[in-house]
Amino acid sequence: MKNAIFLILMLSLLLSLFTGCGKKEPAPEVIPVEDVSPKGKLEGCPLFVKQVDGLPEDFILGMDVSSVIALEQSGVTYYNYEGQQQDLLQTLAEAGVNYIRVRVWNHPYDSEGNGYGGGNNDVEKAVEIGRRATRYGMKLLVDFHYSDFWADPGKQAAPLAWQDLSVDEKAKALKKYTRESLKTLRQAGVDVGMVQIGNETNGALCGEKLWSSISKLMQAGSEAVRAVFPDALVAVHFANPESGAYADYAGKLAGYHVDYDVFGSSYYPYWHGSLENLTRVLSGVAETYDKKVMVMETSYAFTGEDTDFSGNTISDESAVAKPYPYSQQGQVNSFRDVVAAVAAAKNGIGVCYWEGAWITVGGSSREENQKLWEKYGSGWASSCAASYDPDDAGKWYGGSAVDNQAFFDPEGHPLESLKVFNLVRWGNGGEARAESIEPMAITLTAGDDFTLPETVNAVFTDNSRVPVPVTWDVTDEALAEVLSRPGASLEITGTAADMPASLLISVEPENLLQNPGFEDGVAAPWIVEDLGGAKELKIEKKTGDSRTGDWHYHFWSEAAGTVEFTLEQQPEALQSGTYSFSIYIMGGDCGAAEVYAYAKRNGEIVSTAPMEITSWNEWHGGTVSGIEYREGDSLAVGIYVKSDAAGAWGKIDDAALYLTP
Ligand code: CA
Repeated sequence: MKNAIFLILMLSLLLSLFTGCGKKEPAPEVIPVEDVSPKGKLEGCPLFVKQVDGLPEDFILGMDVSSVIALEQSGVTYYNYEGQQQDLLQTLAEAGVNYIRVRVWNHPYDSEGNGYGGGNNDVEKAVEIGRRATRYGMKLLVDFHYSDFWADPGKQAAPLAWQDLSVDEKAKALKKYTRESLKTLRQAGVDVGMVQIGNETNGALCGEKLWSSISKLMQAGSEAVRAVFPDALVAVHFANPESGAYADYAGKLAGYHVDYDVFGSSYYPYWHGSLENLTRVLSGVAETYDKKVMVMETSYAFTGEDTDFSGNTISDESAVAKPYPYSQQGQVNSFRDVVAAVAAAKNGIGVCYWEGAWITVGGSSREENQKLWEKYGSGWASSCAASYDPDDAGKWYGGSAVDNQAFFDPEGHPLESLKVFNLVRWGNGGEARAESIEPMAITLTAGDDFTLPETVNAVFTDNSRVPVPVTWDVTDEALAEVLSRPGASLEITGTAADMPASLLISVEPENLLQNPGFEDGVAAPWIVEDLGGAKELKIEKKTGDSRTGDWHYHFWSEAAGTVEFTLEQQPEALQSGTYSFSIYIMGGDCGAAEVYAYAKRNGEIVSTAPMEITSWNEWHGGTVSGIEYREGDSLAVGIYVKSDAAGAWGKIDDAALYLTP
């Protein structure tokens, strides 16, 4: 009897060991890995690649392909270099990509279940992309936005389900959501190497704007990562290395004891300052706080052309920094230089390219494509996103804004430039050679002396510039005509080193305002009239917040109903005539603000132009034209701003007053 009881006890003990008291999860799936990574230098690439010396073998050369499933559902096919249809993830691994990044939104669907677009990237999408990445030997970087749709410096809206929660409740929900999402990935056998707590969280995350709250949320996310994937790196991610704010962000995280490993940055060469600055600010954080650093997002255009009938963030017309030509060679040089800049930073561990496969869904008109974007979420936003993001997605929904920055042609064939992921470790192409002539643009004021330039820059494949003689195809008459006409522009073509050259001459009328962009470093002769008692009304030096130059006019107020002011100038010594006045503003948290540019004659407002404030870095101009002026009148031009919202802020820059010809 004693023995029988002992036996029963032993059996039940064994049983409970096996079942883990009935709560044990099944063993994670094991995904068989096919190592398709290149075992040496990829041959046959016609592009020049300067080797990045001493790149560690485990240096992350990643790519974000979050939109891939929605694209495939829309009928997009990807090929390998042999022209055969092949899993995109395999092609990337074969080219030297060793990490895949994927964004995760909590619930990117409206109440009817329609996707918001942008890939409709929920956890299920991350699982599928993660499984395919794992299969081809690449690790996954999970990028939690903690929002139902895009989170970036302009917006950090909480998921709908969390919008009424207190910070502590939100932290709890965030931790649980992170833990469960990661467990799902772990169960599916996905090789998660890194997890991002928030996306481009410049002073905001998940609807919270105080660093004490942001830090609490980040710490909650971090704890969830540590619990589920103890070996994975925990990353934070910010944008705008040129803003000078990284030391402050890192200091805040340290002050609030956020536990993380990697300080990540976006770096888009068009907007984000120099590579030297990137290396410097990342090294600063790495050194001061003993963190690893990396670039979470970068990209560069291989062409100015759009292929899906939905405008791109970058085109030939974009007024942005253009350190490389928009060519495959330019794309290669840009990526290579970002890799070099991160490798040169202290504790620099890698670079991820953003959405390098977000190509056109292939229709021959916008209408055709629109149907696919709406149905499968393969555009950056669908019309259904209006319920969650009415001001941006709700107005501008459409297709891919980066099809010209992909590493694939519109049919899905890999470009030669994709091989940079491998060749950056080896170098390629021998001596650099001249590839194109750098387009020139000259802006001058009517009546200025002008002679045509005798040389232009040849752009070499290593992105160096060498001046070469040029001949221009233009008559003296045509040139004289355009130079005499304010507001006119003329594109001249020419030949240099047997290559086509171009010169765009723009003739601007004289700006009759003093200190038009606040670059004098003082407010005068601008006059501010504070009608509401705002907390901050002042000129400010912050390049990243200026439309041009380093300075702008700044306003901010904590209390509701305190932002109301005019900022105006009275130009002197004007001649009689018709004038046009313009000015720019950007800002946020202003609610339904009332903003307009105005002209005042003899103390009376004679004309206004309504303006709007949407979000950070979205500059809106207002132009008042047809301002009649007679000598002896007094004229003032300016901007009126009124917002009743608490925490309203904004920046004003680049005013101009022209005599209309
Ligand atoms: Ca496009």
